[in-house]
Amino acid sequence: MSFKAVIERIGKNVEAYQSEVRSPIYLALNENPYPFPEELIRQCFESIDPSKVNLYVDSPSKEFLKELVDYLSTDSWRAREEQISVGNGADEIIYVLLLMFKDLSIYVFPPTYSCYEIFANALGVKVNKVPLRGERIDTKTLKGLLNEDCVVFLPNPNNPTGHLFEEEEIFWLLKTKALLILDEAYFEFSGKTFAPLIEQFQNLAILRTFSKAFSLASQRIGYIVANPSLIDAYNRVRLPYNVSYLGQTFATIALRNKRIFQERVRKIIEERERLKNALRSMGLKVNDSKANFVFVYLERERTERVYRALLKRGITVRKTEFGLRMAVGQPKQNDLLIETLEGSL
Ligand code: PMP
Repeated sequence: MSFKAVIERIGKNVEAYQSEVRSPIYLALNENPYPFPEELIRQCFESIDPSKVNLYVDSPSKEFLKELVDYLSTDSWRAREEQISVGNGADEIIYVLLLMFKDLSIYVFPPTYSCYEIFANALGVKVNKVPLRGERIDTKTLKGLLNEDCVVFLPNPNNPTGHLFEEEEIFWLLKTKALLILDEAYFEFSGKTFAPLIEQFQNLAILRTFSKAFSLASQRIGYIVANPSLIDAYNRVRLPYNVSYLGQTFATIALRNKRIFQERVRKIIEERERLKNALRSMGLKVNDSKANFVFVYLERERTERVYRALLKRGITVRKTEFGLRMAVGQPKQNDLLIETLEGSL
């Protein structure tokens, strides 16, 4: 096949990532509504060592890795450095994992994070889709299908719905022996993690990101936690200096000041619950999202109508096949969202 044919095939078959024009209230990417604190930006720039900028800096650096170990560790579990690696956003880690396991059977359970399929498509990797039954994993269909030749990508809390899967569902998946990539991008908003279970389960990997709770989406910092052999393989396949010096500095300083972000997470959770209650009192079918966004189940026609009404007021949310996903904004933005929704139903 010629290079021209490859270019043509990609142009035809691979969806281009579309970034949208930002409306005044942009709630479509589940970003943190609070800017990274200016005082910490100053600290980041002060801590940058000018003699290092021209050099290739380890990724992760010793300092960053140490902070990650402390952040992950709990009263009953101490994480180890060899259980952790980093990526240029959790997205890059997903991409590299797909590359590593491209010859295995990849499974996703829609509605799920759209990038699993988008990246697989870009890499020419086939994805098996087993839709959720309501908000539960379809264990009946999956029974007998999953084994150690399979890799499952599962966000917990789920995206776009925001709900948490039951512990039994996660254990059921782990017991199939399939490799479970548990994507905890929204962990800080749910408070629920399975990270310590990597000691027990060789077939578990946890993904996290600094894009949400730590207001650092621009810096593209994600991390993976799993048994050392998986991490070692991941490190051999990923690019050597995949995470920038500046990005690592931002993330390190964020972890050293985690109380600031925990307080903001608390506020976002409070607003999430206020939004859920307000939408429910309008008679909308709102689920129990544990992430930094809310999800409203709507029929297709109504999804379109409400989406357009919001857009008219300068509010962009995410349209899905099953309804609307709306990131929790700052309180005044949420007020406007509630008011506009009330007027559009
Ligand atoms: N996983 C999930 C479930 C997400 O929603 C997102 C961000 N939208 C990511 C991963 C990617 O995060 P990052 O910004 O670290 O690439």
